[in-house]
Amino acid sequence: MVVGAGPAGLAAAAVAVLGGLSVALVDAGQELGGQFWRHPPHGSAVGDGKDLHHDLRSYRQLTATVRDAARSGRCRSLLGHHVWTAVHPAPGQHVLHLVDRSAGPGRESAVRLEARHVVLATGAYDRPLPFPGWDLPGVYTAGGLQALLKGAGVRAGSRVVVGGTGPFLLPVAAGLAARGASVVVCEANDPRRWAGGAGAALGLPGKLVEGAGYAATLARHRVPVQLRQAVTAAHGTDRVEAVTISRLDRSGAVVAGSGRRLEADAVGTGWGFVPQLDLAVTLGADLVPSWGGDQVVGVDRWQRTSVPGLSAAGEVCGVGGARLALREGQLAAEGVLRDLGRPGVTGDRGVVAVRREVARHRRFAAAMAHAHPVPAGWTGWLEDSTTVCRCEEVCAGQVRRAVADGAVGVRQVKQLTRAGMGWCQGRMCAPAVAALAGPGGPGTEVPERLVATPVPLGVLARGTGRDPIP
Ligand SMILES: Cc1cc2nc3c(=O)[nH]c(=O)nc-3n(C[C@H](O)[C@H](O)[C@H](O)COP(=O)(O)OP(=O)(O)OC[C@H]3O[C@@H](n4cnc5c(N)ncnc54)[C@H](O)[C@@H]3O)c2cc1C
Repeated sequence: MVVGAGPAGLAAAAVAVLGGLSVALVDAGQELGGQFWRHPPHGSAVGDGKDLHHDLRSYRQLTATVRDAARSGRCRSLLGHHVWTAVHPAPGQHVLHLVDRSAGPGRESAVRLEARHVVLATGAYDRPLPFPGWDLPGVYTAGGLQALLKGAGVRAGSRVVVGGTGPFLLPVAAGLAARGASVVVCEANDPRRWAGGAGAALGLPGKLVEGAGYAATLARHRVPVQLRQAVTAAHGTDRVEAVTISRLDRSGAVVAGSGRRLEADAVGTGWGFVPQLDLAVTLGADLVPSWGGDQVVGVDRWQRTSVPGLSAAGEVCGVGGARLALREGQLAAEGVLRDLGRPGVTGDRGVVAVRREVARHRRFAAAMAHAHPVPAGWTGWLEDSTTVCRCEEVCAGQVRRAVADGAVGVRQVKQLTRAGMGWCQGRMCAPAVAALAGPGGPGTEVPERLVATPVPLGVLARGTGRDPIP
């Protein structure tokens, strides 16, 4: 079974079916493609936004393989199905519990699947950092802006400020500008941080071409890219009407008096991505620190985790872009085929070439992580009244008071303030609370979320359909 139908999961599923395996490909989304190849729902009136995509050739090949296999009964695409928990009762046996949302709200049902091998390709999600006004309507994550554009054909605003750090800001800004928005980009870091990583970038000409394409689009639409600047506040009554953009010093602290106000009707901020580890942690896979400093799933050269029969691929193993995810998915399925004593699909020389490409992309990802860190001084942008945990409405001042009262680490702050105890289970606020709570102390490890998505109790009460995968 493959969980996640982004570049990594699609590649894993395609190689597995070509190798003769029966596959269930599960994704919470309504379409194949994941975040990178996000498309509007099938049959919707929204155009498919071809110009917003890259490497559609791979997407078409992979989805054609999966759909052909579905027609011949060797692949089941379970779209709109969210794996909410999983257990690993014995080697070679995995039980996954899914909530089927494909019939729409109020009509969810439970599904239970068994599989011998599971490939986790659950990707990553935006790392949001709070700032005064970030909870106003019209303030999004950068990924949120992109998801609206690609998945619904919706341009979130006509005057949009895109801020944060990393190359991902460029496709977001370019896509919005190409749809007629007036866009300003604020990159918090200094491009000179790429100096040591130039070799890694030169090793991937495709990335340079992609970057040059965005730069050309931004230049054509006269989109200014403000360096060492960040969106440090959003203003408005019922929704965002303006932002404050501030210059940052080397530590990421705001340079006094540098703030200037800019009118905006939409804002998107992105500070990199956080690997989606819920199922990996629940299944007991070992985690390791990645090139970006985050904990990620530890894998061997065939993308096998520490749990027998469980592989992982894509951004759940480290944030490095769609091409790396795709190649890791391919390796994961090749590993499963070999473990089952079946011939591979890619061939020995092909596998060597894939490994070389993976190594180049990982070097690039490490250079990217070095060049685009979250600025250490960002917590200084927070006022005491700034909401940090949106679910439980906990503000920065409450977290700071808890720390001043002696709370050590995220867990004690959570116990005293309820930050991280709400609906999202800390996905949105955990980086911020950890930064405010300071290093060390219990609870700084990756949280265990046994329930990866909220499940209506009625669904559980009605019981599950049982469906083993051969
Ligand atoms: C919102 C967002 C937008 C992005 N847009 C772009 C972009 O336009 N360009 C770009 O270069 N990069 C983009 N990225 C970065 C991008 O995620 C990666 O480079 C690439 O898509 C990673 O591929 P992946 O297969 O590892 O994961 P993803 O493409 O993220 O695919 C993971 C899939 O797993 C599914 N999933 C996760 N958990 C579960 C579960 N428990 N049950 C069932 N399904 C599950 C998700 O629905 C998702 O479809 C974006 C990231 C995010 C978070």
